[in-house]
Amino acid sequence: MYLCATPIGNLEDMTFRAIRILREVDIIAAEDTRHTRKLLTHFDIHTPLIRFDENCKTEVGEKILTRLQNGESVAVVSDAGLPAISDPGADLVRLAADAGITVCPIPGANAALSALICSGLDTTKFTFVGFPPKTKKNRREFLEKLSAIDNTLIFYEAPHHLINFLDELTEIFGDRRAVLARELTKVHEEFIRDNLRSLTEKISEPLGEFVIVVEGNKTSCLIEKPAATIPEVMEKFLAEGLDKKSAMRETAKLFNVSRRDIYNSLLKDSEEV
Ligand code: SAM
Repeated sequence: MYLCATPIGNLEDMTFRAIRILREVDIIAAEDTRHTRKLLTHFDIHTPLIRFDENCKTEVGEKILTRLQNGESVAVVSDAGLPAISDPGADLVRLAADAGITVCPIPGANAALSALICSGLDTTKFTFVGFPPKTKKNRREFLEKLSAIDNTLIFYEAPHHLINFLDELTEIFGDRRAVLARELTKVHEEFIRDNLRSLTEKISEPLGEFVIVVEGNKTSCLIEKPAATIPEVMEKFLAEGLDKKSAMRETAKLFNVSRRDIYNSLLKDSEEV
């Protein structure tokens, strides 16, 4: 079974090897067969297609496995980029690997890594996050956990959620450096580099597809750490008249940590007294 990368915009990113493999295999499992057919037509590939997406993955996955076990070869493709990265494929790989089938990568375009390498942010340690949770509550909890990580963070998000998502990131992460990588490999490719808070002002319509790369939490690496402790800063905000929730939010921003970290720190402090 071959996991075959396809372009994320620019057809010239199709590799020679991907074209050969897609021609040679017995069948191609594709997320959207109509979409993939256009790609195959462009490269004069006539291999039969089978639909394999989130809705039919269990049933079709079993069929594909049977074909593999009968000695046929299968290439898996998604609509764009690497299959199994925020796209169907991972379950099929698990199924095939468990059954002792050889799984080969046919590498190529990927939006996350293309965005990261051009971001100008730290590329030595990074976390690929992909799409954040859909519900607001889950998303906030998820982001609060992530806010303590010092790795560069890579997010995918749909265009119509971008502004709201940037606001949430600013609120929870503080005003960190970030990069919007837009329409990668396409005619209107653009990298917008700024602080989270200012990014929104620089975005123009239509948004197109984009990846958000955010600097990791650098608090622990700062040479000049805030002179005061978390409880001291909290006390100061409360004395200034802020309610507890706002004081926690402001303290979290100042220390570039999540509100949960502030809560835990206060809890620890009160237990120690
Ligand atoms: N499997 C793909 C890969 O390897 O990159 C990712 C597919 S995921 C369903 C789609 C998301 O990837 C989009 O919402 C966007 O965040 C990102 N993406 C895909 N193509 C892109 C492009 N040309 N420019 C910027 N982001 C892109």
